[in-house]
Amino acid sequence: MKTVQPLRPAASHAEVLLYDSSSDSTRYIARQYCCRSGGCQHTVIVKVNNCLISIQHGLYPARCILCGARGQTRLDLCPECLADLPLNAWSCCVCANPLATGHQPALCGQCQQNTPYFSRCLAPFLYRAPLDQLILGFKFQQKLAWGRLLGNLLSEYIEQQPINRPDVLIPVPLHPDRLSERGFNQALELARILSQTQRIPVTRQLCRRLRNTPAQSTLRRKDRRHNIRNAFAVAGNVQGLKLAIVDDVITSGSTVNELARCLKQAGASQVQVWGIARASSH
Ligand SMILES: [Zn+2]
Ligand SMILES: [Zn+2]
Repeated sequence: MKTVQPLRPAASHAEVLLYDSSSDSTRYIARQYCCRSGGCQHTVIVKVNNCLISIQHGLYPARCILCGARGQTRLDLCPECLADLPLNAWSCCVCANPLATGHQPALCGQCQQNTPYFSRCLAPFLYRAPLDQLILGFKFQQKLAWGRLLGNLLSEYIEQQPINRPDVLIPVPLHPDRLSERGFNQALELARILSQTQRIPVTRQLCRRLRNTPAQSTLRRKDRRHNIRNAFAVAGNVQGLKLAIVDDVITSGSTVNELARCLKQAGASQVQVWGIARASSH
């Protein structure tokens, strides 16, 4: 284990973990080790938070966001609508690119040609109806409850995977101009939910977006890699850290791969990608 001395008492750990209010990446690492030792206030706050959520759901039972029927515990989705979500069941074992049925486990053609900088992408769903509507509503209509549902679905999926647990979550940063247009970063909102449920620190301070690039979805696949090249900068110490990049939809994978390249170049020991949905990049 690394020898990292906590810089501040555990009392402030939970604030940063839940609200991402610090700019000092070293503090995140220190607090994580503090939390792992058990008994810090973060654990207490998470328990109180979970208790409040249980009371809230007792008073106001969850409703399915898609059809309005009664939801499930801690999930605003009924069992029928949950079963209708398009699972990314057959996919590349590295980048989660959807594959033809029966080719599992396998590398897709793109990963065979160019090994990604990230070790693995986890994306439980395909970017298709009705999931695409949930993501669009969350992203462009600021329906934060829909984002919470998406974050909880992703979290439940991650819990079932045999993954190498990351030290820190890194939401894909938005350029300040795009952030002021949209009002919030959907990747950060998802990462905050994952931070609470998975008890992994999240920071938006380790990476910055240098250029306000055109949306990847508006470009042809071959233009996407060029569009995103050198769009990010690492602004903190990631030496030896295991990281998970968090995004909403992984389309060609060019954005997360470029961010992973920067993080690996800055010394990260491992980079995973966690996204709610994968669009086919064939
Ligand atoms: Zn429903
Ligand atoms: Zn692949």
